[in-house]
This record gives sequence, structure tokens and C-alpha cells, in this order.
Amino acid sequence: MAGRGVGQKIDARPPRPLKRGMMKSIAFDRARQAIQIEEVLRLVGFVPRTRRGDQWRGPCPLERDPLAAHDRSFSVNVRRGIWRCFHCRRGGNVLDLWAAYTEEPIYASTIDLFARLGIAVPWADHGFAGTRTGKGSR
Ligand SMILES: [Zn+2]
Repeated sequence: MAGRGVGQKIDARPPRPLKRGMMKSIAFDRARQAIQIEEVLRLVGFVPRTRRGDQWRGPCPLERDPLAAHDRSFSVNVRRGIWRCFHCRRGGNVLDLWAAYTEEPIYASTIDLFARLGIAVPWADHGFAGTRTGKGSR
């Protein structure tokens, strides 16, 4: 996101050079699609109390309060891969769930999640359609 192509203002300080390969961009849309929310629900220890079609409800896995274990404030649509908690008022997609659970920034938590599931992270700068990642450089 560092100033690209504007060229109008002259910055007094030169931008810090990026360390190559340190922060590649994750293709978050593809990352979301690559993961079934059921897999993340299993990792966070969610046990649904009710299931109505694609809509599952149960105790919020983000809250460590044992009293919360009885309620059904946490609602997931397993088909759409979205969730919401009516108690702690958090919600989002499958990647947000792991980020909220691990309390890590979305970038780090997404990489962590893919590693746990044994799936290659879909990087944004890198053709995805049918290309196999060239292994062996690291
Ligand atoms: Zn909650």
C-alpha cells in the first residue's frame, strides 16, 4: 500500500525498503473459499446444540466463560461460511473466526490456519489457476 504511482508530493524521507519475501499478499478471497468452516469449527472446539439446515447454533467458542457453554449465542451458516455471536457481538467469515480464536492479526492467523490444515496458502502475486507451486526454493 506504500505510495504507488502518485509522484506529486516529494517525500522527505525515502521509503524503507521491503525485505523481499517477508510479507507476501494473501489472496483472501481464495483463502476463504479453500477452507470449509466445519474444519475451523472443529479446531476451535465448537459443538453445535442445534442444527437447522445450514444454520448451526451453540456456545460461543471465543468465550472461555463456562456459563456461556449452555447457550446458543453463536450462530454459523456452514454453507456460506459465515458466523456471528450474539453475545460477544463478533462475526465474520471462516478466516475471521480463526483470527478471533487465536487473537492474532488476520495475516498471521490465516497462515497459521493453512499450516494446521496442511493446505498451501493462496498467495496473491502468484497464478493460482491450475499452477502447481514450484517447490524447493526454500
Ligand atoms: Zn461470543
